[in-house]
Amino acid sequence: MKSDNQKKVLPGDALAVSEEFLPGRNAYDANGTIRALLMGTMIKDLGQREVSVKPAVAARMPDVGDIVTGQIETAQSSVSNLKIYYVNGTPTAAGFVGLIFLREERGGRGARRTQVRLGDIVRAKVVSTVNAMIHLSINEPRLGVIATLCSNCGRPISDQGGRARCNECGNQEDRKFADDFGREPIQP
Ligand SMILES: [Zn+2]
Repeated sequence: MKSDNQKKVLPGDALAVSEEFLPGRNAYDANGTIRALLMGTMIKDLGQREVSVKPAVAARMPDVGDIVTGQIETAQSSVSNLKIYYVNGTPTAAGFVGLIFLREERGGRGARRTQVRLGDIVRAKVVSTVNAMIHLSINEPRLGVIATLCSNCGRPISDQGGRARCNECGNQEDRKFADDFGREPIQP
């Protein structure tokens, strides 16, 4: 009876038919087939007739002070969303999204500096989790963009002594870079 219990599953994998099992945590019913919502281990509760998926990694909500690394999903002038892939260097598949509020640059030069752009890989620190909103800061030397592509030609950009200049087209990127920007492989 427990032969396929504890099986590793991927998102979308068929776990059972809905005539036999109900979808539990991290499982859903798709036209009569119970499928996994995320990567993890299948758990069949024969008593409750329920099949669920235990996530492959802990889905702990990031705490204040945690360092998270992810990719910018949306970038607006005042706030950007970071899809979080690592919490304190450990991968997470929980799908957390943090908010980076971008501050006005002082100095009165008018235009707001571009700090992060869509697609950038960014290391940030959790500064607040009030109302389950993950507020992030990149305002430390080790925080900020750690990898990016040229916004002109799409090539990866390497560090050129603090300024990020594209070797292909010469385009210069302006960001809030982490102090280890451009280093390979990236350190989440
Ligand atoms: Zn370029």
